[in-house]
Amino acid sequence: MTGNKKEITARYNDLCDLIIKYNRHYYDLNDPLVDDSEYDALMRELLDLEARHPFLKRVDSPSARVGGYASPTFSEVPHDPPMLSLGNIFTPEELSDFDARCRKGAGAGGFAYSMELKYDGLAVEVVYEQGRLRQGSTRGNGDVGEDVTRNIAAIGKVPPAVRGAAPGYLSVRGEVFMRHGEFERLNREREEIGEPAFANPRNAAAGSLRQLDPAITAKRSLDVVFYAVGRASAELSLHDQKTLFEILPALGLPVSGEARVGTLDEIREYYDHWLENRHTLDFDIDGIVIKVNDFGLRDILGSTSKAPRWAVAWKFPAREAVTVMESVDFQVGRTGIVTPVANLHPINIGGVIVKRATLHNFKEVERLDVRVGDTIKVIRSGDVIPKVIEVVKKEGGERAVEIVPPDTCPSCGSPLRREEIYLRCVNAGCETKRLEGLKFFASKDGMDIEFFGPELVARLYAAGRLDTIADFYKITRESLLDLDRMGEKLADKVLESINARRRVPLSRFLQSLGIRNVGGHIAAVIAEGAGSLGTLFGMSVDDLMKIREVGPGVAESVHGFLRDEANRRLIDDMIASGLVVEEETVERPADSAVSGKTFVVTGTLSRFSRQEAEALIKNLGGRAAGSVSGKTDYVVAGDSPGSKLDKASKLGIKVLTEDEFIALTGEKSDE
Ligand code: NAD
Repeated sequence: MTGNKKEITARYNDLCDLIIKYNRHYYDLNDPLVDDSEYDALMRELLDLEARHPFLKRVDSPSARVGGYASPTFSEVPHDPPMLSLGNIFTPEELSDFDARCRKGAGAGGFAYSMELKYDGLAVEVVYEQGRLRQGSTRGNGDVGEDVTRNIAAIGKVPPAVRGAAPGYLSVRGEVFMRHGEFERLNREREEIGEPAFANPRNAAAGSLRQLDPAITAKRSLDVVFYAVGRASAELSLHDQKTLFEILPALGLPVSGEARVGTLDEIREYYDHWLENRHTLDFDIDGIVIKVNDFGLRDILGSTSKAPRWAVAWKFPAREAVTVMESVDFQVGRTGIVTPVANLHPINIGGVIVKRATLHNFKEVERLDVRVGDTIKVIRSGDVIPKVIEVVKKEGGERAVEIVPPDTCPSCGSPLRREEIYLRCVNAGCETKRLEGLKFFASKDGMDIEFFGPELVARLYAAGRLDTIADFYKITRESLLDLDRMGEKLADKVLESINARRRVPLSRFLQSLGIRNVGGHIAAVIAEGAGSLGTLFGMSVDDLMKIREVGPGVAESVHGFLRDEANRRLIDDMIASGLVVEEETVERPADSAVSGKTFVVTGTLSRFSRQEAEALIKNLGGRAAGSVSGKTDYVVAGDSPGSKLDKASKLGIKVLTEDEFIALTGEKSDE
């Protein structure tokens, strides 16, 4: 072997070993060592070496097999046919090549393609027998996956039984993923209890599904879309992807609303559209998937051991870039938390010039071991503030300034308090905190007062006309017209937009208060659970924790906020100034027999934990109560049900066995 050959072989072996190691961290440990673009570049290099030097190819090459693992912690589930990966493309030229290969392979041309979002989650298979959910599994190594049936059953969107005329056998495949709101909530909760945060929603979804205790899965709000059928009995006549996307929802199985069927030109438009607009989605996608629409043509094209020849993923370019950190500022937010923010040598990331990026907190600064002058990697995703994710090169020799956490608030100078990983200014009079709180109230994430931008808030605050959030409801036309650069038209628009927020549902009101740990999603969950402001005021920490998704951190901060005298006075002042907080009306899924009914679950069920059963009830629009009363519609009784069952029979309330309950969850309402 020549020296050159030796070098090539060594590089090839290194690449194989490295990718195998990265696969293990990514798929099995849910803790990737490198980002996807770096991984994809290594895989491309490997494929290129194998194409140029076929003699190199190892039997265990990661190019020839699906990258995942089936962890021995779970029981094995064989996949028939195997669950494959997808080939990747990155340019329009590669799309044309893919089309040319398909046309050549199928001996036909001009056929239609299905185009779909590439959900960034983890692939699962769910089996229904005689219409009932029998098994759920991960992709694993493609041939064998992990049995996560109970965890999958705990995902609200996965129905325990399909709707309508059920096929004898049906295995559907799709992606389990986590929406941004839930991802942020979960990471906040983990930070609070000192657990490491998940790097991204994909890892969070995988970590939440691959749990030995399904109650943990049930507590996290996961979502699912189905995009393929593994096997189905003959009565389900499936000929193409378009009909698949009609048949699955009719069976009650969720699919993506964004899939289309069209030509090559339409695929390019679809790609451009989603590359530009992916930030409008509240979940991550990492590209689009293109599939030959017709199943007959797919059979002709077949698959390799790793991926089908009739489909490909067109991946989005990386949203990361490398630049130098020039200095660091400390910023106080509305909650008083002081955040280190990096000032960067300006850099173009995906068409946007980025000058600043967050370093989150001082623990993160320590973890990254980052100093001013270092070369760092920055990621930008959607609307979110860019973040520093890695130090690429340390500033050698005289490493410039270490980032030392401040002792005092950069705005008001009062001493900062250390709270777990945060430094917080606790001075209620801190000007920046108060101003940021007012800006938040008017913003989209708060009360969403359309014409009340941060600049107007700052001007009214400086003029002494906006002191507390109740003052938004006291603003008059005159007080606005008094300001410089304020015309009559604009003043009217501002007033109209305030008036449009005089009657708001409880969820909007709650999210606008800026209570710690309460973002839009949790506010909606609490509002749904409480119903009215009056009820919410009367709820204890324990009552709050009975609401699905509400943990001790959220419950205590809501309870603490509403108990505080000053906050109560503020809310009274808002209401006295004309704010009306309406009861929360929740749109129930209209066609479930559970919708609108109150259930009490008691005893031990064999297929659900109590929490899972309650999550299912709520997802289908029902209420899950803790005790039996005259308002209870059904008691679901497992083994050793205890006194609740006695009470139910005394009150003449209908008692369901577990099987009857499962049957009811799959039924339509006859109302
Ligand atoms: P893939 O993610 O590139 O594509 C296949 C997967 O796409 C399917 O299994 C399915 O889960 C998913 N998918 C989402 N939407 C879909 C749709 N509409 N139709 C069909 N499938 C859809 O392939 P893979 O084998 O799962 O993973 C390879 C990729 O994972 C790499 O390209 C890399 O980005 C990433 N990865 C990263 C690391 C790392 O260390 N960072 C390690 C391994 C893999």
